[in-house]
Amino acid sequence: MNRVVIISAKAMLFTLLLTFNCTLMAQPDRFSNVVIEATQLTDSVYMLTGAGGNLAVSVGADGLLLVDDQYAAMAERIAEALANVSGTAEAHQSLKYVINTHHHGDHTGGNDFFAKAGATIVASEAARVRLLARVPSQDNPLPVITYHEGVHIYFNDDRLNLVVLEGHTDGDTAVYFEGANVLHAGDLFFNKRFPFIDTDSGGSVGAYLSSQEKLLAMINDDTQVVPGHGPIARRSDLMAVHAMIRATHKSVTEDIGAGLSLSSIQEKGLDDMYQSFAWAFISEAKWIETLYWDVIESNAVH
Ligand SMILES: [Zn+2]
Repeated sequence: MNRVVIISAKAMLFTLLLTFNCTLMAQPDRFSNVVIEATQLTDSVYMLTGAGGNLAVSVGADGLLLVDDQYAAMAERIAEALANVSGTAEAHQSLKYVINTHHHGDHTGGNDFFAKAGATIVASEAARVRLLARVPSQDNPLPVITYHEGVHIYFNDDRLNLVVLEGHTDGDTAVYFEGANVLHAGDLFFNKRFPFIDTDSGGSVGAYLSSQEKLLAMINDDTQVVPGHGPIARRSDLMAVHAMIRATHKSVTEDIGAGLSLSSIQEKGLDDMYQSFAWAFISEAKWIETLYWDVIESNAVH
């Protein structure tokens, strides 16, 4: 009897190891066909897209500065893209700063690669706390410069205004290149998509909306806005997403007030005009779920 138990325990361990190895082996495949594409926004600022969050790069006499760095598996391809946009081989070695807009792995995965090449990692103190809690620091170097409300970085004849906001997490940084008039909004802006709001990391719909209002007040119609995810945008695109969040939040609040359950609200769905915001990661049902629990939670007596 005991022997059977031992054998089946061994079999289970073997299956577990096999699954674990397959997961590890499957990891690079996910990115194998991803190409980094660069879009020039101004003389000195580029947007890079690939897998994970969008990047912004400042290129000039002071060297390079990167906002976000996607996944570890993308780091070498990002380095190649930096070489292309700067016209310098080994450009990542003149990368001075990497700003992390927040702690999520699709925005910070390249920290190890770029810190080893000499870059200084910069993030909000709250994002650093989240990074510290998540990974052993030897695998992902922590930010060495942090701030609570914000900081200015003077770089490549521009002033970068880093502003700490909340809503996606409890430590989101928006980076406004004042001279270039380019805003990297981090994940406070998913262009043309339902947003992911990480309520487990201190995010909330209310804070997300008020942070978007602050971003809208910082920029003008000429500002080029790099969203955390989705195509390059203008202020009007941010306004459209903001209006969608407000309207769908109101509609779910009313449905809850009328006594509808989560599943009945999901079954009913949102207004047809919001269908196009659904995407692989946040379906309409998932967005309704986020709104539902946010309303329930904010009405709860604490
Ligand atoms: Zn995120």
